[in-house]
Amino acid sequence: MITVQYPEERNPLPENYRNFPILIYDTVDAAAGLRCVACKICEKECPPQCIYIIKSDDKKPDYMGKPQFYPKVFDIDISVCMSCQICVEVCPFEAIKMDKDFELSKRERFDALLLRKEELSKSNEYYHKIHPVEAAAVDANLAEAAAAAEAKKKAAAAAAAAKPTPVTPNPTTPSAPGPTSVPGATPPESSSSSTKS
Ligand code: SF4
Ligand code: SF4
Repeated sequence: MITVQYPEERNPLPENYRNFPILIYDTVDAAAGLRCVACKICEKECPPQCIYIIKSDDKKPDYMGKPQFYPKVFDIDISVCMSCQICVEVCPFEAIKMDKDFELSKRERFDALLLRKEELSKSNEYYHKIHPVEAAAVDANLAEAAAAAEAKKKAAAAAAAAKPTPVTPNPTTPSAPGPTSVPGATPPESSSSSTKS
C-alpha cells in the first residue's frame, strides 16, 4: 500500500473509472457539435429519474451537416445520480459518457448540484483524455456508421439515375390556335383575293 499526499499527489485513475455523466460534442463548438439529438431515451431509462430534457422545436445541422433536433434543456441532478451508467448504455448516438471528475463538492445542496447542458458539455478531445481506449473505439464505430450511410446514399443515387424514365402518355393534340390578332397589323391576304385579277 502506498500513501499518496492528496491533493498535491494523485494516483492516476483507471480507464474504466466513472463518476457522473457528461455530454460529448464534436468540433470546437459545444452548441453546434453536441451529439445529443434529444431523443429522451436516457431520460426514460434513468432509474432515479435525475435527467431532465426539453427537446427543441426546430432542427439545426449537426457537426456532419445533417438537420437534427437538439436539447433546448438538458439537466442532470448529480445529487440523485447513482453513477450506474445506464444512460450511456442506452444512448444510440454515443452522446453521453461518464466523466472521471470527482471533486464536485459544493456548499449548497440543491441548485449547485443540478448540472446544466453548458456544464455537462465536454469535447471529444476531453473524452479521449479521460477514456482513451473507449473513445478510440467510439470514433471507429462512428466513422464506420458514417461510411456505411454515405455508401447507402451513393447506391440510392446510382439506382435512381439508372432507372428508366417513365413514358408519359401522349396527350390529345389540341387544335392549332388561330392567328393572334394584333391591333394595327395588316391582316394576311386571303387566298380568294390573291386569285382575283
Ligand atoms: S448514471 Fe444512472 S443515475 Fe446517473 S444519470 Fe445516468 S442513468 Fe441516471
Ligand atoms: S444523450 Fe443520447 S439517449 Fe439521451 S437524449 Fe441525448 S441522444 Fe438521446
